[in-house]
Amino acid sequence: MSRPICPIPLAKWYGIELPLPPAPCPLRPCLEGRRADKSNIQNPKLNVPIIMHISPGRKLLPLSESLSSHHWQNIRLIATDMDGTLTVAGKFTSKLVKNLENLTALGIEILIVTGRSAGWVSGISHLMPIAGAIAENGGLCYVFDDEAPILLTSIENQTIHRQQLAAVFAQLKAKFPQIQESADNSFRITDWTFDIANLTLEELQSMDCLCQEMGWGFTYSTVQCHIKPLGQDKGSALLQLLQTHWTQISPQNAIAIGDSPNDESLFDPSYIPVSVGVANILQYTHQLTHKPTYVTSAAEGEGFCELAGLILQAKGDQGMTDTSGH
Ligand SMILES: [Mg+2]
Repeated sequence: MSRPICPIPLAKWYGIELPLPPAPCPLRPCLEGRRADKSNIQNPKLNVPIIMHISPGRKLLPLSESLSSHHWQNIRLIATDMDGTLTVAGKFTSKLVKNLENLTALGIEILIVTGRSAGWVSGISHLMPIAGAIAENGGLCYVFDDEAPILLTSIENQTIHRQQLAAVFAQLKAKFPQIQESADNSFRITDWTFDIANLTLEELQSMDCLCQEMGWGFTYSTVQCHIKPLGQDKGSALLQLLQTHWTQISPQNAIAIGDSPNDESLFDPSYIPVSVGVANILQYTHQLTHKPTYVTSAAEGEGFCELAGLILQAKGDQGMTDTSGH
């Protein structure tokens, strides 16, 4: 599948105001109001007020102008999207795996947070040097040493749930007959996917509205569109896991990184205060209510390695400082 092309060279996006977003979905004010309400919820994991790094129309900061080494030294968990964030042209590289091994060796938990299906993620969580992986945009999580997934979305009856998702997809297909169910949909538990193909932004916004009218959520990545339960997103799933599984790690000691609209909740500072977008996020930032705090200079997996290098260097400096007794 061809990837959407950024109409403006990436370098020209730095240091300039982002263009105005396209015409909003009629339901968008309602949706954004819901998001704004959510951001006011007190986060029990934080002992200090959350600093809002994002403001409308603000400039995106290059990662090279990021926080002090002290901040990176305190990172204990990296929540990362997979496709377009860890991959390069759709593949894992040896450089990526080496960086993941080095981060893990320093005790940093790597948590993949992806829209991929439960079937995909079950395998990934056991084969990669990571602590675990969240599947289906926050639907469930596989932890490295446990075969059974942690279900993060409440589903009373799995059969009825799949039937309801199929009915919503049928409604969308009635209006957009070109959409095709994704090959991995059979391996899903909480959501329903179809290929993004050549859908326009206006068509995607229209689908978002239709799903909302039917009481369901909608998101999309560079790969697929997702029909999902309302409120199911990567950011809330991550926070849920920090409160139940990785209880020793606060959001302030975590960082999130992603590349697509379905990563927007990872950029929401009410969940994780500091986030990073790999450079390919720049083709979507005008569509996002929540933008990443920083953006890497490199795209895709090379951008992740840029962040990894910053953290590994800071941890190395810390080790040298500790060894010298200062
Ligand atoms: Mg992605």
